[in-house]
Amino acid sequence: MEPSLCLSPKPTPKQDHIHKLYKQKNQEKGLSVLAAYTVDVYAFFVNGADHGSNTLRVKQDIQKANEVWNDCVTFQLKGVTTSKRRVNAGSISSDYVLIHPTIEALFQEAQTLEGHKTGIYVLYLSGEYLAPGRGKKVVGVGGTELVSFQNEDDYELTGRILLTEKAAGRYTLAHELGHVLFTRYDAKRAALIQDDPSGPYIYPSGRQNPGHNNDKRNLMYPVSPSERPRITGRQCHTARNSKLTRRQKGI
Ligand SMILES: [Zn+2]
Repeated sequence: MEPSLCLSPKPTPKQDHIHKLYKQKNQEKGLSVLAAYTVDVYAFFVNGADHGSNTLRVKQDIQKANEVWNDCVTFQLKGVTTSKRRVNAGSISSDYVLIHPTIEALFQEAQTLEGHKTGIYVLYLSGEYLAPGRGKKVVGVGGTELVSFQNEDDYELTGRILLTEKAAGRYTLAHELGHVLFTRYDAKRAALIQDDPSGPYIYPSGRQNPGHNNDKRNLMYPVSPSERPRITGRQCHTARNSKLTRRQKGI
């Protein structure tokens, strides 16, 4: 499957502040909702930075993702591992990046370190952007690997996301998680699809992009909004039904 290439602008400090106030108010009112659906995330760093700053980085990304996906699914950081290698995003073309031999080997390394547990693996590279391909200034890519397939209801996936340094402080991880969680088997097409259930995005030329959304304020707009993006009920429903989402027992 072709991965989606995504860009997202940086949020302004003011917008971040407003959201913090909103969240604080809700917590005071006791409105925080117990997470019923969870997704495990494993971070793997290939950027040469120290473990402390890498852990901080992924925690910030997860926090932003949980802001957007709040009340729908909750992302839980289950592991942070580091490679001694250093791979610069600028040395990897943004075209078919998830099947690039170097990237494929790095994901394998990350999955082996974590005992091949089911979840979404996030690969952090050094450098600002992937090398230009069809997309320019690409800071994030999201896709999945089919682990096993019995039938249209019984199959296993592993999520794979790649982020560059420029994706920091943005909603890029939240957006890429959307691509991963929207990946499902479509019996009619007899294939895995990654379509946004509230899509498609329509280019000015009229061409359609099924993986993205046409609403500028939606998380899955091709360029993620700088203000806290929204998700629709249909997007939430699809994400909750992902093979990578677990429903917590007793809820
Ligand atoms: Zn995208």
